[in-house]
Amino acid sequence: GVTRDRVYVDCEWQNYKFTVIDTGGIDPTSDDPLLSQMRRQAEIAIETCDVILFFVDGKAGVTADDQSVADMLRKSGKPVMLVVNKVDNIRMMNDVYEFYNLGIGDPIGISSVNLLNFGDLLEELCKHFPDPDAEEEDVGAIQIAVAGKPNVGKSSLVNRLLGEERVMVSDIAGTTRDAIDTRFTEDGQDYILIDTAGIRRKRSIEYQSLERFSIVRALAAIDRCDVALMVIDATQGVTEQDSKIAGYIDEQGKAAIIVINKWDAIEKNTGTMNEYVAKVREELKFMAYAPILFISALTGQRTNQVLETVRKVYEQASRRITTGLLNDILADAQAALQPPATSGRRLKIYYATQQETNPPTFVMFVNDQTLMHFSYERYLEKQFRKAFGFDGTPLRFILRERQKKEET
Ligand code: GDP
Repeated sequence: GVTRDRVYVDCEWQNYKFTVIDTGGIDPTSDDPLLSQMRRQAEIAIETCDVILFFVDGKAGVTADDQSVADMLRKSGKPVMLVVNKVDNIRMMNDVYEFYNLGIGDPIGISSVNLLNFGDLLEELCKHFPDPDAEEEDVGAIQIAVAGKPNVGKSSLVNRLLGEERVMVSDIAGTTRDAIDTRFTEDGQDYILIDTAGIRRKRSIEYQSLERFSIVRALAAIDRCDVALMVIDATQGVTEQDSKIAGYIDEQGKAAIIVINKWDAIEKNTGTMNEYVAKVREELKFMAYAPILFISALTGQRTNQVLETVRKVYEQASRRITTGLLNDILADAQAALQPPATSGRRLKIYYATQQETNPPTFVMFVNDQTLMHFSYERYLEKQFRKAFGFDGTPLRFILRERQKKEET
């Protein structure tokens, strides 16, 4: 129960989204309240948090414990808000002034029971957060990179995707020479095909002479995309060059779909597709998360599934898991399979939080990161995928250590 004895609540107030961690506080009757309670639980919370709400008891007045906690919080370097609780009515507001003596800023008197002054408290609290409206990203259009070596059928696929039935909105001049992004809409969803100029104008002589620069351009397209289509020629299977491109997509943390093109040119019997899947999975092991599509850009077979899959994969890569749920799954995973131990010391994962999306990135607070094994990280990834999906996107894990001297 290491992770479950803290309580997390994901909150939203006036567009601000934040997580409140309840540390359980200090038991004043315990022999060594600071060491036994604060150090175990509050430390992690303090390390993780952006703001500390320091709760004191307005009825009890300033105590010696308050003073020691205030000293400790001051040392943390984090912003501290001094919250005087149990100020149950306006008449008691005068009692908060003595808390100025803690030297930790202006006390805010509130009543948790009567919800007195909560608006003021939240307003003060949210001043510590970035403006939520300023953070708004352009989530409108999904940017797609069509990646693959020459002649696998990239331009044929692009032509299919940009078929007449779709409304072409515009060609947007890109950042590099003759890179052109194409924006279009399907089923109410906007897409941008990145750098299709090279592909679409391919037959021009000028482009041919630029072919050797195309690798740079292809990599730049992958850098910019939300979802990469890794196009492979079915008649050739996965070649070394394909693996390299796929490796780059994975390294960049991009959501990906493996598109096996020219499926029309393959002789098939009942087991062919399954065998092909097994072979591709074996050869692109690191991309096990990517769905595989078998298409023919030439005949249009299953090309209608491409954008559908792009959309799904993008949604998965953009998922945000609440802190509470994440830590429940983490606790279950650790209960089902103990973390690894080396020379009698066992890895402890105290707490995890999702730091980012695209790709989903998780920060895990641990006692000692050298105790983490690759295989255990793979196990956790599997459990996360089982619980949350994340089809089509790589996951990232970042380990943060608590300082060694704080271990017990
Ligand atoms: P790119 O270099 O990756 O853009 O490839 P292209 O789209 O120019 O296609 C290269 C060659 O493969 C052309 O001769 C296409 O007609 C052919 N091709 C593309 N897609 C398919 C397909 O689905 N099936 C078959 N049989 N040929 C295809």
